Amino acid sequence: MEAGEDILKIGVDLDGTISEYPGFFRLFTRVMAQVGCKIYIITDRMPGTEAEVGAELEKYGITYHVIKITSAKARYILDEGVSVLFDDVDDYFLELPEKVAVFKIRQQYNFDFGRKRWRNSG
Ligand SMILES: [Mg+2]
Repeated sequence: MEAGEDILKIGVDLDGTISEYPGFFRLFTRVMAQVGCKIYIITDRMPGTEAEVGAELEKYGITYHVIKITSAKARYILDEGVSVLFDDVDDYFLELPEKVAVFKIRQQYNFDFGRKRWRNSG
């Protein structure tokens, strides 16, 4: 086995994902990093705002290895060999192949809690 071959790379969005469930993601990222996973924070923030993103992640107590700011999340995920994405926006899932697991975060804008239905993403 080549070095690093079995490292699971996990992508986690910030806005609408970590920001909505910081307690879960604080524990999740810590424990997954402890067992050898590599944590990628993949966010579509303004380019060049890595320092601000890092400060927010610190405030939330998130464990991570990489901050990647990009609107082309699928391209980055495929290039990096990331296996899992947590995100709140469908558009970032569409170009990912079946082998990439996706976990969609519910929010008022993507889920109608009154009617108990996902809203169409467009
Ligand atoms: Mg988001």
